[in-house]
Amino acid sequence: MKIIVPIKRVIDHAVRVRPSADGRSVEAASATMAINPFCEIALEEAVRLKEQGIASEVIAVSIGEPAAQEQLKAALAVGADRALLISTETALEPLAVARVLAHVAAEEGVELALLGKQAIDSDDNQTGQMLAALLGWPQATFASKVQINEGTATVTREVDGGLRTLSMPLPAVITADLRLNEPRYARLPDIMKARKKPIEQRELSSLGLDLPSQVELLAIEEPQPRQAGVVVESVDELLEQLKNVDKVIL
Ligand code: AMP
Repeated sequence: MKIIVPIKRVIDHAVRVRPSADGRSVEAASATMAINPFCEIALEEAVRLKEQGIASEVIAVSIGEPAAQEQLKAALAVGADRALLISTETALEPLAVARVLAHVAAEEGVELALLGKQAIDSDDNQTGQMLAALLGWPQATFASKVQINEGTATVTREVDGGLRTLSMPLPAVITADLRLNEPRYARLPDIMKARKKPIEQRELSSLGLDLPSQVELLAIEEPQPRQAGVVVESVDELLEQLKNVDKVIL
């Protein structure tokens, strides 16, 4: 069973991002970049399936600027067998990404697409769902446990107020939630080996796909700063303070 793991290059979660001067993007020029954390979890799960002898090959795929090779090298270092960069300077929206992934999944003959549940830069949470629809495959999103047995995936999903377990035939799409696993750190020898592994590169335009943009980004703004809190000495003082606040009914 071949697994495709889409890997998105994002600004590292520890970086405090700021809107750019034109309010249409964020300042990313000098920011530390990383693999989207949910993609790391998806990759870890795929590598574990390979280690258990369930998967035959794990293919990491990134769609984006050539610099995403850095994240693909990191994916090779933790156990992906191959890495494929679909190169484009245009930032694609989730439907376009899903179309590209559907093309690659069909071309590679994969039986499982394991994605992150969302990318932490745009928080779209759409690509996995759209990929499943385009391929006509069943999907299990927000996975916290995955078991593959004889062509069937049994997936426990994190839903409001609990867990939901379902089973579906392969090929299928699964998106990884936070509690699915704890991704390993790459070992230094594996990082060195990964540096020498080739990354297959294809220009997005060579795929011959029509990827019209359907969404226009109007503005990016920082949240309003929170007002400082007030420390009160007693419950009576608290009640007194609340009487002066609008929209509080006592
Ligand atoms: P999103 O729907 O944008 O929140 O992203 C969900 C998942 O789709 C991510 O965790 C990745 O697995 C995949 N994905 C989104 N954008 C890309 C991209 N440009 N390249 C590769 N994978 C992507």
